[in-house]
Amino acid sequence: METNLTCSLSPERVEKVRSEFPVLNQMINGSPLIYLDNAATTQKPLRVTKCITQYYNGYNSNVHRGVHQLSQLATIAYEESREKIAGFIHAAHKHEVIYTKGTTDGINMVAYAFNKKFLAVGDTVMISAMEHHANIVPWQIYGEEKEIRLKVIPINEHGELDMDAFSAMLDEKVKLVSVTYVSNTLGTVNPIKDIIRIAHQHGIPVLIDAAQAIAHIAIDVQELDVDFLVFSGHKMYGPTGIGVLYAKEKWLEQMPPYQGGGDMIKQVTFEKTTYNTLPYKFEAGTPSISAAIGLGAAIDYLQDFGIEELSAYEHELTNYTISKLLQVDGLRLIGSAKAHAGSISFIMNGHHNSDIGELLNQQGIAVRTGHHCTQPLMKIFNIRGTVRASLAIYNTHQEIDSFLGGLNKALEILRG
Ligand code: PMP
Repeated sequence: METNLTCSLSPERVEKVRSEFPVLNQMINGSPLIYLDNAATTQKPLRVTKCITQYYNGYNSNVHRGVHQLSQLATIAYEESREKIAGFIHAAHKHEVIYTKGTTDGINMVAYAFNKKFLAVGDTVMISAMEHHANIVPWQIYGEEKEIRLKVIPINEHGELDMDAFSAMLDEKVKLVSVTYVSNTLGTVNPIKDIIRIAHQHGIPVLIDAAQAIAHIAIDVQELDVDFLVFSGHKMYGPTGIGVLYAKEKWLEQMPPYQGGGDMIKQVTFEKTTYNTLPYKFEAGTPSISAAIGLGAAIDYLQDFGIEELSAYEHELTNYTISKLLQVDGLRLIGSAKAHAGSISFIMNGHHNSDIGELLNQQGIAVRTGHHCTQPLMKIFNIRGTVRASLAIYNTHQEIDSFLGGLNKALEILRG
């Protein structure tokens, strides 16, 4: 992350943050847990879990349909969360915030709508070489019938997008650019402002996969002028089973609904159905009410913390981690972009990633190994997978030191 802020949290502040995440306070295989798998999912602060329990114990009820008190309370809380989300990403209207199951669900919704309504046979969707499978496969599934092609923005050896190639590849066949803000594997922070601006110069809308950005970088959808933005609650200290599709009103109005059922209709007859207003047109069936309310609490948490301060702290911790890793003999960083977020991938000369992951786990250190749902990217780097350490606000410099100690110990064991 490129920022001029330098920030170190005081030990008291770090302790306070950590005390809000009770799951962190446990021993794994005889050592204190060091959780470095935050790109997969973050832990949840007490205020999120408490607010979910409060809903179930206090006012559990279905939304939008009841005249009774509990249903009204549930509806208010559910809609208040939507308002918080809209405020957090600075959406112009709260009905531009559609609840989804997560990032994957959001991309599938847009892929479905584009293929049904906006794409013609032989059109192209442009993605990048570092996309998660969630931003590859939906385009292939829904695009099959119209033979939609994927054009792929190449990357350099550091894992940075080739922006000249991007500009050169935009032609009249490209109907959407869909790229990730932050790579879950490489940690690259992509220049999405430039991508959006350049795509718009060609009249092409842009979808941003913000799964790995939303909890780490302040996002203003109006300033970005982004057409679609998707993210998952569980990667931003919120619950699983909930996410967001933000889309400009003009797109949502034209898009066909993704699923049919209760809540998304205005009137149903056996002959014809008319659809509900936004955002309900896209929210068929009983939603994940508790998770939506929990996501609101996660947003309160992030806002109370201050996303700028959080960003600066993680930036510093990322640089610290990378500088320490680079001192390890035989280690190759996969993803060395100048603008680097806290997902840090590496491989070790001559050693299997899974062996390293396993030996770290024996010391209570949770990292992820494998292809991280980016198989085409692995092919480009000519590797099968990486070891990935990914950071969050509750990680500390001491934990990074222990992680490095654990890694060296694992290597000693492997080297015999
Ligand atoms: N895109 C990116 C960049 C991701 O990191 C992930 C999750 N690893 C996804 C999409 C999919 O998110 P979810 O599984 O929450 O739908």
